[in-house]
Amino acid sequence: AHLDRIDAIDEKVHAFLHVDTEGALAAARAVDAKRAKGEELGPLAGVPLALKDIFTTEGVPTTVGSKILDGWIPPYDATLTRRLKEAGVVILGKTNMDEFAMGSSTENSAFGPTGNPWDLTRIPGGSGGGSSAALASFQAPLAIGTDTGGSIRQPAAVTGTVGVKPTYGAVSRYGMVAFSSSLDQGGPCARTVLDAALLHEAIAGHDPLDSTSVDAPVPAVVEAARNGDVRGLRVGVVKEFGGEGYQDGVMTRFHESVELLRELGAEIVEVSCPSFTYALAAYYLIAPSECSSNLARFDAMRYGLRVGDDGTHSAEEVTALTREAGFGAEVKRRIMLGTYALSSGYYDAYYGSAQKVRTLITRDFERAFGDVDVLVSPTTPTTAFPIGERADDPMAMYLADLCTIPSNLAGNAAMSLPCGLAPEDGLPVGLQIIAPALADDRLYRVGAAVE
Ligand code: GLN
Repeated sequence: AHLDRIDAIDEKVHAFLHVDTEGALAAARAVDAKRAKGEELGPLAGVPLALKDIFTTEGVPTTVGSKILDGWIPPYDATLTRRLKEAGVVILGKTNMDEFAMGSSTENSAFGPTGNPWDLTRIPGGSGGGSSAALASFQAPLAIGTDTGGSIRQPAAVTGTVGVKPTYGAVSRYGMVAFSSSLDQGGPCARTVLDAALLHEAIAGHDPLDSTSVDAPVPAVVEAARNGDVRGLRVGVVKEFGGEGYQDGVMTRFHESVELLRELGAEIVEVSCPSFTYALAAYYLIAPSECSSNLARFDAMRYGLRVGDDGTHSAEEVTALTREAGFGAEVKRRIMLGTYALSSGYYDAYYGSAQKVRTLITRDFERAFGDVDVLVSPTTPTTAFPIGERADDPMAMYLADLCTIPSNLAGNAAMSLPCGLAPEDGLPVGLQIIAPALADDRLYRVGAAVE
């Protein structure tokens, strides 16, 4: 049924870069066969899923939304892909994304934009716009995203779906193409909080193949999503998220959610996190710095595209020609920014300062979580903007992640879930919930209460 749905509407939405019809049917039949034999089935056996095209899939193309990986077929599964298969999940295909997960609109994909199912002329968020659009258009009940600065939560917010960035290190990065390794985190996307929790449990857990993987028990997220009791819970409203630049309807729905939490028995406290003001600036030094280093591996020798290999160019020239042709404008902008920020003479002033700001932000969170159990804010300052509106203005595009970036810098856990439609444009608004590292279960408890 989901493959039929994709066939019928994805030409318009463009959520998928690759639909793996044969693989999906084979996986579904394998579940049927197991069931017929009376074998034990996992909690997600037979459930279809849309996988962001940043995770390697053995024998199935993986592009990361870039031309540089053109023709590359991964010889191995990412740990997350393997876990999904072991849980019996049916992977429908690979979803569209901003190239190398750099963007907030999916317009930076080398394969054309994705439409927001609420209004196809608007962006579905980014970088994981394909996954969120697949959910919102009922082409898949579950999806996977990755969140370096907001790429799970912001797409969830603007498409009226649920997205969770687990604690940094909770979901393995092995086989997830690296953008900014100290920030990147894979996580679950769904249409309900409980669905996200079930997927969370299937993909989280220690992985010896990822040196930053957390070696701790996975919090009881499914139990929390079934509970939803917030009586006595202390909820902090971050003072710095609001005011100028925030759409009225977004703030209206946000304040209503806070009131709802109060009615349900939570205690509402205003908290101040003064260093959050510098989060965006620090992020746009740290993320490009790490990307400039990570993307050095795309040298035309190891993967995918190779341009100018005609016997007249040196190996160095082939690398340069391939990177010139294979990377898009935003990726090149970040590589240049990062290379500059890391260069000797500028390292302390830019990268070094950004790392200090990162520590200040982490301390703001620590102070806040000394007083409250969770923090809440709008996920994004505005609802989905029209395709093209911010495409030529990187600074305007970067503002979409104003509220989400601090959690990536600190490595804690955060969720976005729908909290109604903005009265002025009828588009979905997202509520962000933030919990301390390793307390991901709190997101689901609060999410289940306000859902
Ligand atoms: N929009 C942010 C960026 O462009 C975050 C992207 C992400 O989380 N992958 O870097």
